[in-house]
Amino acid sequence: MTANSEIDGYFDKISEGLEATVSEVQLKEQLSVGLGALRDLYRQEAIGFSDELIETLKAVRDIEMDLAEFIEIVDELPLVNDSVEAIEYQIKLNHIARSLEGLPVQQRVLRELRGLRDRLPELEKKSLEIENLAKQQRFLNLESKCEPCECGARRVIRENIHRKFWRCETYPKCLRARSVTREETVYLGS
Ligand SMILES: [Zn+2]
Repeated sequence: MTANSEIDGYFDKISEGLEATVSEVQLKEQLSVGLGALRDLYRQEAIGFSDELIETLKAVRDIEMDLAEFIEIVDELPLVNDSVEAIEYQIKLNHIARSLEGLPVQQRVLRELRGLRDRLPELEKKSLEIENLAKQQRFLNLESKCEPCECGARRVIRENIHRKFWRCETYPKCLRARSVTREETVYLGS
């Protein structure tokens, strides 16, 4: 077999893979094998490789890298636990979906994107709950450090729509209050 027909043979296999409905893992494997064989051929004899061919190989290599990233993402997706992370993955998947445009394997990426989109409302709710818990914890931290009210009782932070303030725990028995300092406001966050 001449070098050229060998090159064509590997290229045909790569095209077949790209056109077939196979999993991302199978396709990635197929491309890696094809590219590896072509790289070996190139090292033996670069003559059969036109500039156009080399550009095409680079494009196939890009697809291979996108697939590798996609495979990693598919592994990580079940662990996504908050909406910020989910949106980051959405951006990555959108990018991969665009670069795999026209290939059957793009459907796999779109399916994962749909799955992620369906989970988003639940993840947003969870993120909000986590944020509220963290805020509650910050309130408790400050309250545990605050010096007691002049009556001797503990002070607690209360929040109304206008502001946060310290109030005696025995309110309304004791009406003493004091404002939250700038430093405390920063610590408590919004
Ligand atoms: Zn008091």
